[in-house]
Amino acid sequence: MEDQTSTQMIMNQRKGRRLVLFPLPLQGHINPMLQLANILHSHGFSITIIHTNFNSPNPSNHPHFTFHFISENLSETELRTSSDNLLALVALLNTRCVEAFHDCLDKLMNHQEEQPVACLISDAILPFTQAVADKLKLPRIVLRTGGASSFVVFAAFPLLRERGYLPIQDSKLEEPVVELPPLKVKDLPVIDNCDPQTLDQVVDGMVNGAKVSSGLIWNTFEGLEQSSLDTLGQKISIPIFPIGPFHKIFSTSSSSSSSLLKQDQSCISWLDKQAPKSVIYVSFGSIAAINENHFLEIAFGLANSNQPFLWVVRPGLTVGSDWLELLPSGFIQKLSGRGHIVKWVPQQEVLAHSSVGAFWTHNGWNSTLESICEGVPMICMPCFTDQRVNARYVSDVWRVGLQLENGNLERGEIEKLIRRLMVEKEGEEIRERILCLKEKASLCLKEGGSSYESINSLVSHILSLDSFTFHSH
Ligand code: UDP
Repeated sequence: MEDQTSTQMIMNQRKGRRLVLFPLPLQGHINPMLQLANILHSHGFSITIIHTNFNSPNPSNHPHFTFHFISENLSETELRTSSDNLLALVALLNTRCVEAFHDCLDKLMNHQEEQPVACLISDAILPFTQAVADKLKLPRIVLRTGGASSFVVFAAFPLLRERGYLPIQDSKLEEPVVELPPLKVKDLPVIDNCDPQTLDQVVDGMVNGAKVSSGLIWNTFEGLEQSSLDTLGQKISIPIFPIGPFHKIFSTSSSSSSSLLKQDQSCISWLDKQAPKSVIYVSFGSIAAINENHFLEIAFGLANSNQPFLWVVRPGLTVGSDWLELLPSGFIQKLSGRGHIVKWVPQQEVLAHSSVGAFWTHNGWNSTLESICEGVPMICMPCFTDQRVNARYVSDVWRVGLQLENGNLERGEIEKLIRRLMVEKEGEEIRERILCLKEKASLCLKEGGSSYESINSLVSHILSLDSFTFHSH
């Protein structure tokens, strides 16, 4: 009885509180931020999203949220050139958005007809928002859309620089990072050919901004990253909330609605015609690019494997090519329907399909988590930053996938790896292990589970910040 009264009191208290969310405008960051928005909305908060005009999701897909768009202050040329240079884009967003973001947030906080703003929740990669929130005396909570294990590595950058691991030297790629087992130097989360100073600036900004925030939300769960979360708990004195996997708290349709590209539904009817667990689903996410030679080795590796495959070739995936024109003529016809190539798919639906037996992925954190949640073993081909750490955890810590090690992107090697995963005993063991993780992912969201409890703690935490704001005004 007492419990019921206190729950009711909390519900009442919650009503009429608004949260302002600000995602990094990239697909892998927008998806989890909007999923988080749905979670918090279901707990009684009103939601306002501030978004850049650049890469904006369609507000009509989210009628229960209020959207405010700000200019990112980047010229067409700057946007075009920086889309090939992720770090440059992030660095520019952190300097050019300051004023527009400040003005928008200030207006929202002083809007008399709107519900009072309890706090700002912004992406960890937008640390400039901390200074703006401080100036406006609004608490900021951080959403880190990547995993906790890669964050441990980002937080160790000063040590890695001091001990000479960073910047990476090509001669040391295969050496272990003894301070961060089981990582090797080649797994460190950098971007090849990028200016090390810009990388340090972005990484240090993210870590230091998170440390001084009012809390850190993770799209992960304890059963997956317990030891990394413990390490962070010791290093960071703010409260942390591992409340993932977000997309499993809401149905697939809610996350599809934040897709920036049109999802090709033809793949689902194609999957319906394939044998159970026979298909290799191949996608390298929304940003990664590969060269012409790698594109062809992947195509022939898949064709020669004799397994059915569904391949997402995003326009822009291959540098200097529009879409499939690099494939030799007759390539698709020779497959006689065994391969299906599209530009973009409803990925969560694909991974949940009973015909999918493996996911060849770049190991972006969302893709990694989505694969784990459906119990789909992975072929790991990380390209840059945290993808490298995620891939090493998939292959060596959770042991739920096999890694195409650097330099092995050759059709014969690809064919062998696909066999190991799809046909041999090793693959069966991997499948059993990932099914255990899938079970853990599902349990943590049930009443009493770690993420379920963590969401309740987050809600209470936001309400405690809220009262602080109201008293201090
Ligand atoms: N995704 C999708 N359709 C596709 C490929 C990817 O909807 O054809 C989604 C996927 O479900 C995930 C996101 O795009 O939520 C990609 O995020 P991730 O962190 O895996 O990689 P990134 O794109 O940030 O490199």
